[in-house]
Amino acid sequence: DHEITFEHVSFSYENGVSVLNDLSFTVEDGKTTALVGPSGSGKSTVISLISRFWDVDNGEIRMGNEKLRDIRPDALTEEITCVFQDVYLFNDTILNNIRMAKPSATMEEVTQASRLANCHEFIMQMENGYDTLVGEGGSTLSGGEKQRVSIARALLKDAPVVLLDESTSSLDVDNEKEINHALDHLMAEKTVVVIAHRLDTIINADQIIVLDEGSVREKGTHQELCRQQ
Ligand code: ADP
Ligand code: ADP
Repeated sequence: DHEITFEHVSFSYENGVSVLNDLSFTVEDGKTTALVGPSGSGKSTVISLISRFWDVDNGEIRMGNEKLRDIRPDALTEEITCVFQDVYLFNDTILNNIRMAKPSATMEEVTQASRLANCHEFIMQMENGYDTLVGEGGSTLSGGEKQRVSIARALLKDAPVVLLDESTSSLDVDNEKEINHALDHLMAEKTVVVIAHRLDTIINADQIIVLDEGSVREKGTHQELCRQQ
């Protein structure tokens, strides 16, 4: 069970400014929760706390029945994958960038994850025995391509919880369909918490949480939130 629960969570960075105030919500196991809200409302901080980049000042975060802080770091690393477009890409082939998620993976597993992430062109290149270099920080790839490589990696690693940040996604119209397809797979298979900027992601999410100054302003499905307007 990978339900994630925030119970009265408060958090400040070192400068002491309060960022999250008495924040409570539940991310259901196997479902997708979209975080939306103005810049500075605390979305990235929520993601950082789930990955235990920081720990809460007050309150508790649970995964299943366990307190997050009681889960061993190596166990937590196996449970959670982060999909951030601009990080963790290193200057090597796309194949090796995907395979780093699970070095022991068979070529079949790598190909399967790539196909589900809609990295068609990369698979074809691999089958023909060559591979694109991603460049430093992924400089030779478009935003959407980087995101798909990142999604392929998450699918290969096969952790049950995926934390996804769309906020830096460049508007990449050519890649829109491919990204939708790749995200559909993640959202169908995993417990997903996504900082959502794309309308498709927001509409398809099982729950939308609207943050404002570190508190939940509204939550519900897209339909429910539209009805309230
Ligand atoms: P976060 O809320 O995750 O910190 P920001 O709001 O700082 O993200 O924005 C991250 C990137 O997304 C920036 O490059 C910003 O220009 C872009 N961005 C933010 N809001 C929007 C929006 N509503 N539509 C399009 N791009 C946006
Ligand atoms: P969002 O993702 O919604 O844009 P963030 O979680 O990034 O919001 O930021 C929430 C608040 O915390 C903002 O006021 C931001 O300036 C502040 N903040 C974010 N990261 C840090 C940090 N590392 N140190 C100090 N303040 C930070």
